[in-house]
Amino acid sequence: MSESANLLKLFRVDQQIRGLRSRLTSAERFLAEQKRLMDELNAKLTIATNQFKIAKSAAAGAEGEAARIEARMNHLREQMNLAKTNKEYSAFLTEVNSLKALKDEQDKLQLEQLDRVDQLSKQIAELDVQVKDRKGVATKAQTERDGKEAEIKDRLGELTKERVAVRGGVDASHAKRLEDLMERLGEDAMANVEEIDRRNHEWSCGACRMAVPAQVLSIITRGSLVNCPSCGAFLFTETDVASKKLPKAKKGETLEA
Ligand SMILES: [Zn+2]
Repeated sequence: MSESANLLKLFRVDQQIRGLRSRLTSAERFLAEQKRLMDELNAKLTIATNQFKIAKSAAAGAEGEAARIEARMNHLREQMNLAKTNKEYSAFLTEVNSLKALKDEQDKLQLEQLDRVDQLSKQIAELDVQVKDRKGVATKAQTERDGKEAEIKDRLGELTKERVAVRGGVDASHAKRLEDLMERLGEDAMANVEEIDRRNHEWSCGACRMAVPAQVLSIITRGSLVNCPSCGAFLFTETDVASKKLPKAKKGETLEA
């Protein structure tokens, strides 16, 4: 077998491996996305839970402060009743009034924080439901991914063994170049030379459609390796272009007319 044919064999095995893996890859991608969404929800839940605790303690703090002020006001009111002079009475009254303003502030603060506690507890409940739902989807995605892996395992094992054998028959530097091209071009790493117009000796690269000159074609058909000057793919001919098409065309245009 020519080097080109050997390389094509390796390419075909790689294509099958890629095809099998792609089924697993899409399942893995879906699973990763579910995990990402799950992490996002858990992060939101952590933030909301922390905010809930802060608001709750702020509300309790305001309540305590309001009660402390209230007690002080009650004590002042008692003293007011016992005031002996107008001056004494109005001093107590001034203090009571200023405490009243402070207590109003604390009452307001407490209500605001209780509102916040309310909102956050609703938000937490919603997030809990979302986390639970997402967990269900993620579990299913994991099962699906594991199923896909099991499904392709045996065939992938066979192909991997086959690949080792086939690669052994290919020049190591050519195999490496093919692997690099597979990374870059995927399925277009090796391209069939397609016939555009036999009569006018026109062929093109099956991957990028750029013209392949007749002299390049004759090198390919001898089994030598040539890369497409345009896209870089290894070129090959699926059919025996050299023996069937090229000589015919060489004989003259009238043959095909
Ligand atoms: Zn090309």
